[in-house]
Amino acid sequence: MALIALVALAAAPVLDGVAEQGGVLRGTLPAGAAQLTLDGRPVAVAGDGRFIIGFGRDAPAAATLGWSSVGTPQALSIAIAPRQWRIQSLPTLPPSPVPDAEFEARRPAELARIAAARAVIGSGDGWRHGFAAPVSGPVTGVYGSQRILAGIPSAPHAGLDFGVAAGTPVRAPADGTVGLADGPFTLEGNLVMIDHGMGLVTAYLHLSRIDVRPGDQVRAGQTIGLVGATGRATGPHLHWGASWTDVRIDPELLLAKALPDGR
Ligand SMILES: [Zn+2]
Repeated sequence: MALIALVALAAAPVLDGVAEQGGVLRGTLPAGAAQLTLDGRPVAVAGDGRFIIGFGRDAPAAATLGWSSVGTPQALSIAIAPRQWRIQSLPTLPPSPVPDAEFEARRPAELARIAAARAVIGSGDGWRHGFAAPVSGPVTGVYGSQRILAGIPSAPHAGLDFGVAAGTPVRAPADGTVGLADGPFTLEGNLVMIDHGMGLVTAYLHLSRIDVRPGDQVRAGQTIGLVGATGRATGPHLHWGASWTDVRIDPELLLAKALPDGR
């Protein structure tokens, strides 16, 4: 009995981090384990057994990590902590922009390019490390916040906004490979997306200038462009987005060091 229990324990992946909505967990798959899945979907694992998984804003209370140990299927339930989102209810709809024919024509191709950049499972190592904020400045919009306009919920805010001046350098938060660097996109404006490996991708929107090209290797701290107000933006700011595979995660939870008080 004791031996069986020991074998079972030794075969479980070791997880580090906090499982919460919008967050990521890193872990190590034990030797002899393979075919890692999260809720049945395959998860990439590095040569040394390390991996990363992410949870969306509306992730349910539990997820199941599956793997195979010497051919035997194994599973582990992960409890995902819920978070409180900033919800703002407005009684009336704001005047909505008239759908524009040019937007309707351009948008499907833009979305396809963004989805393709997000779908990359790169082999870089940036995902292993704590990230640094791409700019320092006040946070003017948080991940997960949502407005309910005349009873109709709008799409939750999928990133972190920094209210910083136009022309402020935007720095890569971790090592990576530039997947997309182009614009202006109709909503995102001039957009850079960086693949940090293993499905972890970050995005930088509304830039006034792009300083990198697709395929460039960037190092943590390297300037990738300048803050601007291109695309749909009411003023200069940086919208920083992050995703793991097709799951939008909270970039703030990637930071090695919490943002300063007052942010
Ligand atoms: Zn934003």
